[in-house]
Amino acid sequence: MSSKARFISLFFMSCLCFLMSAGATHSPGEKLSAPGPDDPKGSSGIPIAVTGTLIDGTGVAPVPDAVVVIEDGQITAAGPRKEVKIPANARILEFPGGTLLPGFINAHVHTMFDDKKLKAWAREGVTTVRDLAEAANLEWFALRDKLRADPRNARIVAAGPVFTCADGFLKEVSLVVSSPEDARAKVKALIDQGADVIKVGLNSPIYPELSPDVVKAIVDAAHGRGKPVAAHVISAQGMGVAVEAGVDDLSHMAPIGAKPEALIRQAKEKGIYWIPTFEPPRGDPPRQKVKDDFRLFLDLGGAVALGNDSGSMPNVQVGMPIKEILFMQDAGMTPMRIIEAATRQAARVCRLENEIGTLQPGKRADLLVVDGNPLEDLNALTKTRLVIHDGIIIRLE
Ligand SMILES: [Zn+2]
Repeated sequence: MSSKARFISLFFMSCLCFLMSAGATHSPGEKLSAPGPDDPKGSSGIPIAVTGTLIDGTGVAPVPDAVVVIEDGQITAAGPRKEVKIPANARILEFPGGTLLPGFINAHVHTMFDDKKLKAWAREGVTTVRDLAEAANLEWFALRDKLRADPRNARIVAAGPVFTCADGFLKEVSLVVSSPEDARAKVKALIDQGADVIKVGLNSPIYPELSPDVVKAIVDAAHGRGKPVAAHVISAQGMGVAVEAGVDDLSHMAPIGAKPEALIRQAKEKGIYWIPTFEPPRGDPPRQKVKDDFRLFLDLGGAVALGNDSGSMPNVQVGMPIKEILFMQDAGMTPMRIIEAATRQAARVCRLENEIGTLQPGKRADLLVVDGNPLEDLNALTKTRLVIHDGIIIRLE
């Protein structure tokens, strides 16, 4: 099979998986109960101090022998142990040889609002996920808020349904828009319902896709209400429409053709994030041309966030997305840049940079501790020792 045919067949497969899964709404909640004062690992009001090597997500060099102090769900101090005052009544958790990191953020998943998946992400240190579209018949934002009550679940940032056109990508389970006026009205209605982000599906050449004026209307309407727009693109045509309209982030690697420079440079100059989503459903590594295009974006200083499209496809990794992370390294990212993509940068994509993404005073206490040094070997990210979500210890080994 040619690489193009293989690429297209992969997309048919992922779309089919999405469609098959879309009707099967899970009923979460039976076992949901937030840990309270009686829970030995819950929030008892006692400060927590976690020690080890600190990688705070800002990109600065690691701090050896550091401490992060957590009180009432917030980080109150982070830095070298000899400079930070630990409250006298703090519970101290020491991890010699361990690395402290911000809770990871996966900026491209499909949760299906399944609490088992949300727990699998959170237990491996992915404390926030951005759900880039679910079926059109769900109570997306009520489900998001209900699942949010349990800190053992990863926090969801939700798009609701994907915007498409008549005869377009996943039209059976999507929000079909027919004109710029229709698009503006539907974007406003979805944001009124609670959408955190608007998702557009641009799927040429496999399906007809939204016209440039409709995509522009969607972007302007979302931005007018302070919400970002995420685009699924799989071709230079779709990527061009998305970039021209001024979307906020792109998912997937589009085959850009022989001269990708202009489009990639335009995306970078507009400050558009790229979520490369290398991990394919069948596990094939990204092709060299795809890596070269991505490398060009990296070399220009383009902003990247972590996302692997997990949740609705059976073979894509839920939990710590180490396959995607190793693909990002293979494509030219340093371990530190990948950690930033999974923390500070993904928090910006989620519009949560004032709350999460770095281990700094004032941030929500989402913290991951792993054994070893991920800057030397990224596989250390799978050696989970501690996960704190919203100040609650949800895993300790
Ligand atoms: Zn997706």
